[in-house]
Amino acid sequence: MQNLVKRHRQPRLLGVFAHPDDETFCAGGTLAKHVAAGWQTMVISATSGQAGQIRDPLVATRRTLGQVREREFYAACQQLGVRHARVLDYMDGTLQDADPHELTGAIVKIIRAFRPDVVITFGPDGAYGHPDHIAIGAATTRAFERAGSSRHFPDQLAAGHRPHRPAQLYHSYFPHNRLLLSDRLAHWLAASATRFQGTAEFTRALPLFAVEATTLRYASDHVDVEWYPSGSHIVEQNEPGAKLYLILSGYTDVIEEDADGTRRTLARLGPGEFFGELAIVHQQPRAADVVAVGDVTCLVLAPGAPSAFAGRGADARLLEAGTGEGMVEEPTVGALVPVDVSYYVGQKIAAVAAHRTQYPIALDMLPPELLQELLGQEYFVRVHPPHVLETSIWPGVFDQRKSPRRVARTAKRADMPISLA
Ligand SMILES: [Zn+2]
Repeated sequence: MQNLVKRHRQPRLLGVFAHPDDETFCAGGTLAKHVAAGWQTMVISATSGQAGQIRDPLVATRRTLGQVREREFYAACQQLGVRHARVLDYMDGTLQDADPHELTGAIVKIIRAFRPDVVITFGPDGAYGHPDHIAIGAATTRAFERAGSSRHFPDQLAAGHRPHRPAQLYHSYFPHNRLLLSDRLAHWLAASATRFQGTAEFTRALPLFAVEATTLRYASDHVDVEWYPSGSHIVEQNEPGAKLYLILSGYTDVIEEDADGTRRTLARLGPGEFFGELAIVHQQPRAADVVAVGDVTCLVLAPGAPSAFAGRGADARLLEAGTGEGMVEEPTVGALVPVDVSYYVGQKIAAVAAHRTQYPIALDMLPPELLQELLGQEYFVRVHPPHVLETSIWPGVFDQRKSPRRVARTAKRADMPISLA
């Protein structure tokens, strides 16, 4: 790293994404980390995200959403320290219909102008299958390959852009993490000296956060919002259970039944209060009934999708039991590169909050250890140089088409940009 910073030209990192907020979730910490290490950074959003949701109707309408999200994108980039940010004028939701040659050309032009050392974009999985992500990832990958050749887009050369081939290409990657929000939150609640009651803002934010965290595979919970009619037993005393509940609206009574059948109401819970955490933490059956007083809506975090065979009552088998912890190993096309961004989680959260129309949430409401665990690592698949180049520096393992010195230099350089200490 030292060597790179000392060079007369600051190293450059370019991120190309589809929508405002992709930059933060895919590479927010990595961008902030590279800025801190003296890199020049540029982020492109191909669209202004005008087809997105409007989760805070006070800040945007359907007509103004594109403009508002564009401003949010610049604000988020500012939080990450990214100096160069640009929104292209493609339509949100239609990137797969854009002329691939034209889209590639637009990115080639940006690469030739900004002249990055490293390019980051989406891989063929589009993070979670979003067609816009897949389209922009494919176009950027093509642009990476073509920007260095004067055979491609010669009209740009006539306009003064010189060919430029960046050294490295990474695809953003979201490994499947088995971590359970329900488990982390339950331990946090159980360790708290006073009973937690979330504000209205917290109660609104947690479902959004839980859905986002599971979509991006930071966590494995099955997230649902369930409605319980008045009088229904949401949980039953003595049954096994691994679900965690947050009351979104309505009230519940917590009722304990003694051995002789006497029922005592222990507490009334309302919006913003959790229940179910003790059975998770102590891995014991439910200590009491929780009964809906009037109609109740709850956010339910479960360790797995509901089973058609899950019985109720004390004799039910523990069908909700969670899976083991840790990352699920999945095959990737290139070398998987984890980037430790734990030091930059605060900046990443500030950037998430800058996307207010999408995440009207204050993440400082959640336990900091949980956020570290969810957001403290970012992952990339190194597409270029391909993995084989690195392994071929060991003589005799692979045939070397290039001279050993050349290969060693390329491989060493390959290690630098993203493996910042
Ligand atoms: Zn997106």
